[in-house]
Amino acid sequence: MNTLSKVKEWLSVQKHLYFLFGLLFIIPNCVLFITDPMPVTIGIASITIPLAIGLGVLLLLRKPGIIVWVLLPKVILDGGQLVLLHLFGESVIAVDMFLNLTSSNVSEASELLGNIFLVIIRVFLLYTLPTLCLAAYSVKVKDHLPDVFRKKWGKISLLLFIVGALSGSLSFLQGHVFSVKKDIYPMNALYNLYFAFDKANRNKNYHLTSADFTFNASKPVQVDNNREIYVLVVGETARAMEWSLYGYERETSPRMDKLPGLVYFKDAITQSNNTHKSVPIILSAASAEDYDILYQKKSIITAFKEAGFHTVAIVNQKLTGSLISTFYREADTYIDMSVFHAGSYLTSSHDDAILPYLQKEVDDAESNLFIVLHTYGSHFNYSERYPKEFAFYTPDKSDRIRVTCKSKLRNAYDNSILFTDYVLSEIVRILEKSGACSSMLYLSDHGEDIFDDARARYLHASPIPTYYQLHIPYLLWFSDSYQRGYPGKYRQALEHKALPVSTNSVFHTMLDLAGIETKEADPSLALTNEAFIVRSRMYLDDHDDPIPFWKVGLKKLDFEMMNKWNISYDDE
Ligand SMILES: [Zn+2]
Repeated sequence: MNTLSKVKEWLSVQKHLYFLFGLLFIIPNCVLFITDPMPVTIGIASITIPLAIGLGVLLLLRKPGIIVWVLLPKVILDGGQLVLLHLFGESVIAVDMFLNLTSSNVSEASELLGNIFLVIIRVFLLYTLPTLCLAAYSVKVKDHLPDVFRKKWGKISLLLFIVGALSGSLSFLQGHVFSVKKDIYPMNALYNLYFAFDKANRNKNYHLTSADFTFNASKPVQVDNNREIYVLVVGETARAMEWSLYGYERETSPRMDKLPGLVYFKDAITQSNNTHKSVPIILSAASAEDYDILYQKKSIITAFKEAGFHTVAIVNQKLTGSLISTFYREADTYIDMSVFHAGSYLTSSHDDAILPYLQKEVDDAESNLFIVLHTYGSHFNYSERYPKEFAFYTPDKSDRIRVTCKSKLRNAYDNSILFTDYVLSEIVRILEKSGACSSMLYLSDHGEDIFDDARARYLHASPIPTYYQLHIPYLLWFSDSYQRGYPGKYRQALEHKALPVSTNSVFHTMLDLAGIETKEADPSLALTNEAFIVRSRMYLDDHDDPIPFWKVGLKKLDFEMMNKWNISYDDE
């Protein structure tokens, strides 16, 4: 008898198939056990409870293959989970991943999907397809699970379940609160799916839940009868370490390096590595510490509007359907430049296309102005983010995200920073020329991985961030006229420039810069206010709860980089 026949004969026995299915069902649990750090007690529970349930459920019919087919959604979910583990090397499927897949703005999901096709095929061929074929075979063969066997394994399953539950409940000894919806796969993945639907719903109802909100904002002081212009530039995917301003060896920010009136914050990190969570924090009083107020309150645009400013949002990125674009619609003038580009979510104008619109708004308005410019900065595909003249580092053409293309990707990325530096200097030029009392705040929504170390990580928005996704450039520029009008603000900014700050300070700093008073303003978060205080920096986790950023699962390599770039964190 040859090997194939022997295998076929072995598989014709339902008992063998039963054990095989039991093991196949917990493959994701076993991988997560290895990849995700957890207390031993939780580790034991995370394997034995799903194994017990799987073995128990497979006994319900005398042909376990039928049960496997009934549980097809689980088999598909397991495949998705294995794809994710293959890509990131850790973590259960996150809320953000479901949201990216279900929202109309799929840019971050689609850019990823373009690269994971091979991984999906691999997982399908090695896991999903064999499982389903074996299930079909189990349905076909004549053999049945004997009743004595079902009874015996029913008892063993129950015993296993009790062992798992006991182990989980003992996790308090290791300082952990056991939670089935957070600790046990696939319950945690399903809970994340529920959370994603609930969040999508809250986003959809924002206009209802925030309808009655008002800032009661006012601006009591106006300098020298001169009009005031404040510009908030929301950057995209720029990481601080890639700017010469921050100490990068390539001269990628020559204009900002020499700009008079510029204050840059060296130790600035983001509260989220995902555009759709980070930018709402930038544009509102919400923060990782208190994210849910996002749905009750309006954005910074309305605060300025209430204080008598003419408000403008000029946006060079496809944000349709997101809460961010809802915020921008609060502005008196909303220019959505993404409508000039059909097709892929990754196409956009170069960011300098914003400048003529900015010039026009500055020229046309006679009142105080508040302008948000949302750029596309350094978003993948990097080489499409700048015109030819800015291709200073070459070769820079690489359409593929491959570790072998790292130097090309890095060249293109650096060129995109060089171009951002140019765009910022042009914004400053327009403001200076206007003669208004003006100021600009620029920061990036998050950073990026570009195959920086042995982990070979790329892009951003991964379930657990890296140093590279956290450390962002954060700049404040003050015109001469502003420095004369509000000398105290400029001095305070200089005094605070070496302190640890994060994206939750933007809303309060912008209001403080402009002298806007409202009960929503917190001077202790304003970088230009003497009341500013340093606090432990939080990161917004997958369930929108705050977690100290150094506890999000950063690795040794990240801490090495944080030490190198003097990012402060608590050492406990
Ligand atoms: Zn982003």
